[in-house]
Amino acid sequence: METRSIRGFHDVLPEDAKRWHRVEETAKAVFELHGFSELRMPVLEFTEIFARSLGTTTDIVEKEMYTFADRDGSSLTLRPEGTAGVARSYIENSMWAKSPVTKIYYTGMMFRHERPQKGRYRGFYQIGAELLGPEEPASDAELISMVWNILEGTGITKYLTLEISSLGDGICRPQYKEKLVAFFAPERERLCEDCQRRLETNPLRILDCKVKGCSEIASRAPRMIDSLCADCASHFAEVREALDSAGVPYVVNPGIVRGLDYYTRTVFEITTGELGSQNAVAAGGRYDGLVEELGGPRTPAVGFAMGMERLILLHQAAFPEGFGREISVFIAHMGEEARKRAFRLASELRGLGISTEMEYGGKSLKSQLKRADKSGARLTLIIGEDEIRRGVVKVRDMDTGKEDETTEINPGLEIAGRLGGK
Ligand code: ATP
Ligand code: MG
Repeated sequence: METRSIRGFHDVLPEDAKRWHRVEETAKAVFELHGFSELRMPVLEFTEIFARSLGTTTDIVEKEMYTFADRDGSSLTLRPEGTAGVARSYIENSMWAKSPVTKIYYTGMMFRHERPQKGRYRGFYQIGAELLGPEEPASDAELISMVWNILEGTGITKYLTLEISSLGDGICRPQYKEKLVAFFAPERERLCEDCQRRLETNPLRILDCKVKGCSEIASRAPRMIDSLCADCASHFAEVREALDSAGVPYVVNPGIVRGLDYYTRTVFEITTGELGSQNAVAAGGRYDGLVEELGGPRTPAVGFAMGMERLILLHQAAFPEGFGREISVFIAHMGEEARKRAFRLASELRGLGISTEMEYGGKSLKSQLKRADKSGARLTLIIGEDEIRRGVVKVRDMDTGKEDETTEINPGLEIAGRLGGK
């Protein structure tokens, strides 16, 4: 048997977990500041939920989902994104009946069968949020400015650009699609095979094609943003005005086409120049038709998701010094009696909120001190037969190398005081 993980899946190692916690905690604090609460969802849903939400002609549904049959034959899919599950839960738990505004955030692993590269995995983590109920532009602006605040809180906005656009609604988008088809039809032979098919199934997708020939033609195509109906145009103008008033820096990029079909009106992407072709860090937008599409009442909504791995890569660039494990005290001991004493002292220190490690067995003092050194502890306590007899504990300051002794018989509080004073 080969002992290895599945291609495209990765571990977050203990030495990196602190950095992950830091980013996650920042996000959670900003969510709470905006009145959002966490929803924990299953990672598996009926395939139908994703196919209906994302659209059957999207890349995710066509090529990237992990889909398999359950024992009873029903088709299940490992979630490729979070919004569909939130919408499913919103309907199933009648959240719409409890409040006109529902604010939800989630974190967790998503699954997409893509070609793995740096910053692109088959199993990856997202943090996201959904604001369901309101359709006013202030809700779009609140959500986008919240995303920006999270990224500011993590200290990486110097690497980022926020781009926004509008994809119109059920009134102006169909008209725009006709314009697009009329534009691309004479160019049909010069489009890639996928795009020739998209011309019939989903012409908007052509704008998103990475094939050079297609993107060249697409750059001359009519733009949605010039084809918005009056309501969509004023909605977009108000989103921009609100973002301006909140001091959120953005640029309008009419070229944004999101990879999912459910978006209407506002869409946005936060990109970076630091990660090669994995340039998208966060993305989202308005999806006024999704909840209804899944069988719920008409519920306008706006949401976003960001990729943790890409965020972490930027965080490493901004703060290369790392976020190691922090331990305050290491206890070394010599002799049976001292080991018992060390164990009691370790529990006492932890009870006082001091992170403590100790040697378990009977290693030489030299090897214990080596481990103490590696542990990054600020103080090493040493207990030997002599210390037991005299009722003291030897204390070594790991920064200065200076040694002295405690004066108290129960030294917990004394050690806490020394750590506090450092
Ligand atoms: P990309 O264009 O890079 O494939 P996407 O448009 O498919 O991104 P979304 O569906 O909008 O991505 O997901 C939101 C965020 O999740 C992305 O901006 C990115 O940071 C992250 N993400 C998406 N797919 C992956 C992946 N395979 N591995 C790591 N992170 C990902
Ligand atoms: Mg993708």
